[in-house]
Amino acid sequence: MSTCCESDSCNTAPRKAVCPVNGKSYPRVSRKTLLHHLKKPWQVNVTEQDWYFCDSPDCDVVYFNVNAQTFLRQDLRTDPGQKSTAAERTLCYCFDVTAADYQSQPDETKTFVIDQTRSSTCDCEIRNPAGRCCLKDFPKQ
Ligand SMILES: [Zn+2]
Repeated sequence: MSTCCESDSCNTAPRKAVCPVNGKSYPRVSRKTLLHHLKKPWQVNVTEQDWYFCDSPDCDVVYFNVNAQTFLRQDLRTDPGQKSTAAERTLCYCFDVTAADYQSQPDETKTFVIDQTRSSTCDCEIRNPAGRCCLKDFPKQ
């Protein structure tokens, strides 16, 4: 299936699909995001179809498609913060905010990220392995 562009508004594929390993439903991510996070992307077959991002820390799958093709944590250049519970995991990939940073300066870090998001100085589609804004990954205080 081909789409006219990668923008969400003209992609007709389902917004969510079920991870073939843990059986839960996860949102779509653009192929562009995969190409920026997989190791040696020229050696793997990132097909021109829709990909999805599994964010469960208990599941090794990071990216999958509806044909049950998967990429695991070890296939990525950096370990996705969404898959980790470590204090040093990254929350915001655009501005390098870790969970520990957020814990020590919750208002400063979150306000900074919100401000950057409002002024579109973030670059989540490329930098964040989930391909989306990190604000929902910030733990509830
Ligand atoms: Zn999974």
